[in-house]
Amino acid sequence: MTLTRFAPSPTGRLHVGNLRTALHNWMLARKNGGQFHLRIDDTDAERSREEYVAAIRRDLAWLGLEPDGEERQSARLDIYEAAFVRLRDAGRVYPAYETAQELELKRKILLGRGLPPLYDRAALGLSEGERHEKEAAGIRPHWRFLLDHDRPITWQDGIRGPQQFDPAQLSDPVVRRADGSWLYMLPSVVDDVEMGVTQVLRGEDHVSNTALQVQIFEALNAPPPAFAHEALLVGAEGKLSKRLGSMDCDALRAAGIEPEAVVALLARLGTSLPVEPVADRQALLASFDLSTFSRAPARFAMEELERVNRGILHQLPFAAVAERLPAGMDEATWHAVRPNVSRLDEAAQWWQLVTGPVALPDLSAEDRAFVAKAAAALNWGDDPWKTLTTAMKQATGRTGKALFLPLRLALTGKPHGPDMGELLPLIGETEARERLRRAAGTEGI
Ligand code: GLU
Repeated sequence: MTLTRFAPSPTGRLHVGNLRTALHNWMLARKNGGQFHLRIDDTDAERSREEYVAAIRRDLAWLGLEPDGEERQSARLDIYEAAFVRLRDAGRVYPAYETAQELELKRKILLGRGLPPLYDRAALGLSEGERHEKEAAGIRPHWRFLLDHDRPITWQDGIRGPQQFDPAQLSDPVVRRADGSWLYMLPSVVDDVEMGVTQVLRGEDHVSNTALQVQIFEALNAPPPAFAHEALLVGAEGKLSKRLGSMDCDALRAAGIEPEAVVALLARLGTSLPVEPVADRQALLASFDLSTFSRAPARFAMEELERVNRGILHQLPFAAVAERLPAGMDEATWHAVRPNVSRLDEAAQWWQLVTGPVALPDLSAEDRAFVAKAAAALNWGDDPWKTLTTAMKQATGRTGKALFLPLRLALTGKPHGPDMGELLPLIGETEARERLRRAAGTEGI
């Protein structure tokens, strides 16, 4: 069974790039009838916050990406300890005693000589006596994973194709700090094994981590999952802008963006599939395929999201929006105003046209006379707008704008808006006649 996971660190709000990764993992699982899990990567106790954990859950729920399970790294420390002991006993992790300053100096020297700043494994050369001496002096080690330099690291990446790394060109990664706390590298592998993760889909900023982790999986005698790394999301200007980094669900909601629009955009942005306002998730799932993912960065533009949002709103059924519409606004009104909203809260302004009062238009004397005639001619039926305009056309010879605009202005106070054929029945006969008379200045006459 396919099992994917989304593994955010609760050190801030999820931004649109994180949401994209979450969505793709959800889609990958759903498409294959598998499971999607949320893993809270909170080993960094200092930077992790409970409020962000709550926000992550809320954001996923808003997008309709409910996880089938949730794990928290802070509750799994015993499991990491056990794996660590196994690796240590097998000689695959080793203690190192360099201070941050010493390591920095080594890096600088290598870089100064034009060499890659690889860790020189000096700690491996320490004798037992030397190690005891350090520990007796109160120096506690951090721990590095010993890379096997003998075989190239390879995997078939679901997006990037065949990958190959020379382990000798990588530093043995630090997996545990001197205070005993964990870095991301080992717990993530242990969890992926224990949780039965079959597919790891994440950003390409993790490619070099994957190279290291492939060997950690092997050292734990676990087959690595399938990996896929997606190109990063960038702003229209080509980089991960500040704006994009702060684009979280609250900001999207405040901009009037529907969750379905976020999903429709992010599902296909950076793929060869067209970005369209697809409100049907099954349709999005049907076309979801890692082979359509491009290796070039995916460009996020707010204008494109707004376009998709409009398209989505124009399709959303009453039931999907009813709760968020102005009190009393019914299905017929939603259908009438739906094509005229770019964001849902604009529905209120069109609802006002139904309930009134509407602004009094400034009509010419000629138009006022025309509208007065219309008030008298108003004849309710199945299609009062059609009946009215047909009658007024016959009576006055007016056509096009001259025919429609004064009527629209008189009935709604606005020169444009939802289809009058749908709107007029909602306004109702008495109110419509009243508005026509008021605009004509013949009110009460
Ligand atoms: N917590 C890691 C991150 O947010 C998870 C990476 C992964 O998917 O393994 O980058």
